[in-house]
Amino acid sequence: MKFNPAKALEKSASIGSHRGVNHMINDSATYTFESGEQMTACFNGELEGAYLYSRHWNPTNFALSKSLAAMEGTEAAWDTGSGMAAITNAILQVCNAGDHIVSSVSSYGGTYAFMKFYLPKFNIHTDFVNITDLDAVEKAIKPNTKILYTESLTNPLLQVADIPALRKIADKYQLTLIIDNTFTPLIISPIQLGADIVVYSLTKFVNGKNDTTAGAICASLDFINSLIDLNDGSSMLLGGVLDSIRAANIHKNLFTLPIRMKKHSENAMFLAQKFKDLGLRTVYPGLPDHPQHELMKELMNPEFGFGGMVSIDLETPERASKFMSLMQDSGVGYLAVSLGYFKTLFSNSGKSTSSEVPEETQRDMGLSPGLVRYSVGLDHDIHESYKVIEECYKKL
Ligand SMILES: *Cc1c(COP(=O)(O)O)cnc(C)c1O
Repeated sequence: MKFNPAKALEKSASIGSHRGVNHMINDSATYTFESGEQMTACFNGELEGAYLYSRHWNPTNFALSKSLAAMEGTEAAWDTGSGMAAITNAILQVCNAGDHIVSSVSSYGGTYAFMKFYLPKFNIHTDFVNITDLDAVEKAIKPNTKILYTESLTNPLLQVADIPALRKIADKYQLTLIIDNTFTPLIISPIQLGADIVVYSLTKFVNGKNDTTAGAICASLDFINSLIDLNDGSSMLLGGVLDSIRAANIHKNLFTLPIRMKKHSENAMFLAQKFKDLGLRTVYPGLPDHPQHELMKELMNPEFGFGGMVSIDLETPERASKFMSLMQDSGVGYLAVSLGYFKTLFSNSGKSTSSEVPEETQRDMGLSPGLVRYSVGLDHDIHESYKVIEECYKKL
């Protein structure tokens, strides 16, 4: 039977301590032992189920990680203080100095910057490719390549990665396939399609409130344990752990993710069609003219739709800016980066979340300077919202 991420998530809910419907927030950075011998045993990893210190494990973070692992169908998961902590920790755990990465050029700006400008100081170099061009992916692989990296639905171009095909390439050259699933939780289940490691910015759809940054790594138990190894675990030693109070909040929000994703997708599909009717160059994986529309249909869990991200091309940053101000002033949503919020958010990718990518590279990859990226909200009446957007467009 096909894996159902929402069902798996629902099943992961468990009664908290004192029979609370939610898990208790464990408000402790450190934990007590009954004897020195017991503490030594814990440090040596011989004490099952004991907590030592919250940078390592905390019961509240552990409960959240269990639900995230259930949703992805992995053995384990690890919660971090941001999406970037998840991405950097996972990469640094897999790579050694001198290794090489092949990554999608269309990626979150911070991820691109980390690979392009930060990792070279460890002599780790990255070649960036168009991830939908499988020949280009294979040609970029070198004898020292360790990681094949992409987002399932890429930022900002909204390309769909062919994860099963990338798995075949990863097998052929023994690479670790890491997928950032931030744009498509529940819609795409990367592990089921062949990924080794899934990373998330929980800041976005998963938490859905834009009240905190957070991230997660979902993978095998061996990999998660390696991340928190006291001697050489990148999560343990770089210390980007999530705070337990935030973990408890995110855990509660996680259980409404299935209904939220459906609504984001429904509203985004409506807007994408309307934008197209208006004659705008529109990119949305749910539109039949999207280059990977058929692939998306093959890969996705259909009940959650095609996601909440839509982009349109206003050609110049000046027109994009004027349009976004008009929309914000008329209450359509907010001119803000980030995504997955209950209000619609919009930004001009080239000048904001992809500004780390040099202008020449932006041009080469086909990122229009006037691209406006929408994270479509949970609007009760999207028809009404569209009417307001159309009025703004007419004023341009
Ligand atoms: C926002 C984002 C990140 C980074 O997450 P933070 O929580 O801001 O650190 C990584 N990948 C994608 C696709 C994102 O949208």
